Amino acid sequence: MASTDAERAPAVPGLSIVVPAYNEQEVLPEFHRRLTAVLAELPMESEVIYINDGSSDATLAVIRQLREKDPRIALIDLSRNFGKEIAVTAGLDYSKGDAVILIDADLQDPPELIPRLVEERKNGYDVVYATRMSREGESRLKKATAYAFYRVINQLTRVKIPQDTGDFRLLSRRAVNSLLKLREQHRFMKGLFTWIGYAQKGIPYRRDPRYAGETKWNYWRLWNFALEGVTSFTIGPLKVATYLGLATAIAAFIYAGIIIAKTLLHGEPVAGYPSLMVVILFLGGVQLITVGIMGEYIGRMFDESKQRPLYFVNTYEPAVTHGRSAASPAKADAA
Ligand code: UDP
Ligand code: MG
Repeated sequence: MASTDAERAPAVPGLSIVVPAYNEQEVLPEFHRRLTAVLAELPMESEVIYINDGSSDATLAVIRQLREKDPRIALIDLSRNFGKEIAVTAGLDYSKGDAVILIDADLQDPPELIPRLVEERKNGYDVVYATRMSREGESRLKKATAYAFYRVINQLTRVKIPQDTGDFRLLSRRAVNSLLKLREQHRFMKGLFTWIGYAQKGIPYRRDPRYAGETKWNYWRLWNFALEGVTSFTIGPLKVATYLGLATAIAAFIYAGIIIAKTLLHGEPVAGYPSLMVVILFLGGVQLITVGIMGEYIGRMFDESKQRPLYFVNTYEPAVTHGRSAASPAKADAA
């Protein structure tokens, strides 16, 4: 047959599902079962890219097992744990689909919503994101901090990040390509998704509690996440530092005037220890804060200036679409 080579060429799937997984051995089989049920309903061909983000449990083995039964599965095994943002970026780098869905493996993002995301894509939206209506299984405090976080970041930055929106979304090919041009180390994804622009649309859904396993979330992480968000999208804090410095200088100047006048009028029998301490501590505090803010930015400049690659891949095992080999180098054609 003359067309053998063409048949062997990797088919372009309509949809790529990108799933980062870090220690998700308990959830993955159930996740894949629900995902497969959804994909069966969709008219287009799809590939499911699982990214093993340096898991310390059996996640890799579980993905391999799933892949033996389902040829649509592609596996990216990263060389170590790089964090969700970078795992997702790796998935996007390898995705071939005309549209890409980003979804968490822990079933907090219901795969059943995918058809609705795809539907909106047909209406011409480049980014279709899922917006949480409720957050089940999450504490009041987490909800409150999340709310505060969105408020603060939208006040501070020019990029308007939609509230209560995670990474669960559909991206068109051109949105993915745009996103992939942003190779920064500090990847505040929520911000980047918005920053690229294009027609975007939110779809409300109910966020379920985690199916199994443990969240890698905690308050220290949220704090750092917020810091990341602010520093990657605005130099506002640096300006705050400037004006804080200016205000303090003016206040100090006025205070100096008062002291001089007082001394000239009434003389000065030393004393003044409390006011001296207050001034020293206050100025010291302001200076430390400003240096800290500058440090946050300088640290990020340091990281970016190294221009390191975002991640390394241990192995990549592509999906086999149409039951044909998609030129798999790793598996060396089991035929
Ligand atoms: N994840 C990852 N690398 C990490 C941490 C998390 O790939 O270092 C994945 C994880 O497997 C899951 C998704 O990112 O699919 C979301 O993680 P998690 O549920 O811990 O975050 P949360 O939903 O609590 O924000
Ligand atoms: Mg989760």
